[in-house]
Amino acid sequence: MACTKENPDDREKGQAGAPAPDEGKSMDIVCLDMEGVLVPEIWIAFSEASGIPELRRTTRDEPDYDKLMRYRLGILKEHGLGLREIQETIAKIDPLPGARAFLDELRELTQVIILSDTFTQFAKPLMAKLGWPTLFCNTLEVAPDGEITGYRMRVEKSKLTTVKALQSIGFDTIAAGDSHNDLGMIRASKAGFLFKSTDAIKAENPDLPAYEAFDELLAAIKGVLG
Ligand SMILES: [Mg+2]
Repeated sequence: MACTKENPDDREKGQAGAPAPDEGKSMDIVCLDMEGVLVPEIWIAFSEASGIPELRRTTRDEPDYDKLMRYRLGILKEHGLGLREIQETIAKIDPLPGARAFLDELRELTQVIILSDTFTQFAKPLMAKLGWPTLFCNTLEVAPDGEITGYRMRVEKSKLTTVKALQSIGFDTIAAGDSHNDLGMIRASKAGFLFKSTDAIKAENPDLPAYEAFDELLAAIKGVLG
C-alpha cells in the first residue's frame, strides 16, 4: 500500500492554491460539558436514587480517575447492580431545568457537541430527554448478563484533545463547562465560559466569564458566533 509521509515543512508553508486560513466565514462549533451543565452529576444522582452513599465519591475526592472507576465498579458488583438497573435509575433523572430549550435553540444557531467523561450507556437515557444531541464520551464494557466488567476511555484528556482536533479541521471552538477538567478546552477555545461552576474554580479563574443561567450563557455564545 502506498504511503505518503507528511513533511512538517509543508504544513508551515500551507498548500499552494489553498485559501489563507482567515479567508471566509469562520466555522464555529460549540463544545459543552454535560454533567453539572446540562444534567445533574450522574454518580451523585445515582447514589441518591440507589441509596448507596459510597457512590457519591467523585473526582473531587479521588483525582485518579482509574482508581475511582475501579472503586465504583467494585461497589456496583457488591450490590449486584448491572447496566440495566443503572439505566433504569438514570432514566428517572431529568436534565437541569431549561437545558433542553437552551440546547434546542443553540443547535438551531450552530453546531454543538457535548464532550463528557461519562459513558455512552449511562448518558443514553439523558440524551433521549435532550433530543439526542451529539455526544462524544467513553464506553463501558458490559457482559451479556449486564455486569459492567470494565470501561474504555476514548482518548487522553478527551475534552482538550477533541477541541484541538476540531480546530485542526477548520473549526473555531467555543466551550463551556463547570469543572477542573473543562478548563483545558475552555482556555484553548476562541471563547470559553464557566457555567454553574464552583466558587473556588471561579476564584481561581477570574478572567473567565462565569454564568449561572442558560439565557446568560446563550447570550454570551451568540455574542461570539462568527
Ligand atoms: Mg461537569
